Amino acid sequence: MLMWVVFLVVNFFEERSKNMGAGQNVFNDGKAVLNMSITVTVSAQKPPAPHGYISISRKKLLQNLEINTGARVNAWVDSMRASSPTHIKSTPSLSDDQGSWNLHHPSALEMFEQIIEASKGKQIAMFLDYDGTLSPIVEDPDRAFMSKKMRKTVRKLAKCFPTAIVSGRCRDKVYKFVKLAELYYAGSHGMDIKGPEKRSKSTKDNESVLFQPASEFLPMIDEVYKQLVETTKSTPGAKVENNKFCLSVHFRCVDEKKWSELAQQVRSVLKEYPKLRLTQGRKVLEIRPTIKWDKGKALEFLLESLGFANCTDVFPVYIGDDRTDEDAFKILRDRGQGFGILVSKFPKETSASYSLQEPDEVMDFLRRLVEWKQLSVQARAQSRM
Ligand SMILES: [Mg+2]
Repeated sequence: MLMWVVFLVVNFFEERSKNMGAGQNVFNDGKAVLNMSITVTVSAQKPPAPHGYISISRKKLLQNLEINTGARVNAWVDSMRASSPTHIKSTPSLSDDQGSWNLHHPSALEMFEQIIEASKGKQIAMFLDYDGTLSPIVEDPDRAFMSKKMRKTVRKLAKCFPTAIVSGRCRDKVYKFVKLAELYYAGSHGMDIKGPEKRSKSTKDNESVLFQPASEFLPMIDEVYKQLVETTKSTPGAKVENNKFCLSVHFRCVDEKKWSELAQQVRSVLKEYPKLRLTQGRKVLEIRPTIKWDKGKALEFLLESLGFANCTDVFPVYIGDDRTDEDAFKILRDRGQGFGILVSKFPKETSASYSLQEPDEVMDFLRRLVEWKQLSVQARAQSRM
């Protein structure tokens, strides 16, 4: 079996990285200088992948082909039903045990004091999913707006803590919803990462783009997008969304009786593209390049970019509602740093530590964090007088 060796070399220089104690807002710090080079080389036995991207082993390609040839269609549809709140009761082992689930994943609001205690002496960094976390899941994904109150809360949050939005959506689209230039954005499941906009007139727009690990896939993604639009137009309510580095086929407005049919249509297109893989989310099938990159990797990348690589005094908090957010929850669990919060009204298998029921509760939690931070800054200032 081939040994795959991946070297990710990130050289990061930040003027104030050594001074990042609690209370400093790196995201709003225009003086931060990022100078980063990324090299990915693959295997001693095989030549490096073209363009420096992670290449895929033949075995993996065959596995992916197998997945794309249909054996998993019913599993996707079943899984989508299970993750849809209106059908969660079809999984009795979970729904019968709501009390036990709450015990293992208590409300982050109820546990607020304990969470603050655990973060003591550490720099909190916030990572937020968008759909279902900052905005409610709505039938038309183009109308998944966040409320003004939520935007105001996230703006205040970013003044207190480094804050990033990590979404499956195209980065430009999620930015149009959030409209806050001071945040980091990781779109397309983290495959398109950009830092806060710099205000300097001499700075070109694209200078804050940090990482796009899948840019060689762009022509293929566009081609598949057109084919999916054509193939799925016979299914009423089906919507294909181009998220630049990945595609989403939305099932939200499709009659559930037609879900298998739509999944088959997606499979029929994807079987010609073994370098793309399918994942399933809440009423959505997502198509992305087969590279080792997900929201968890994006979270690690952002932590490094913020100067927290190998730091023990960082406390990352990741809030999300989807299966794709589990990669990030798992990273935090494995690192033993910070924690994940799952947004869900129903018990679900998760690596998150805490739960919140819906975006309104997310807003309450973020507000409390802001209030706590403001009070602690005031208290510190008074003690110095
Ligand atoms: Mg979501």
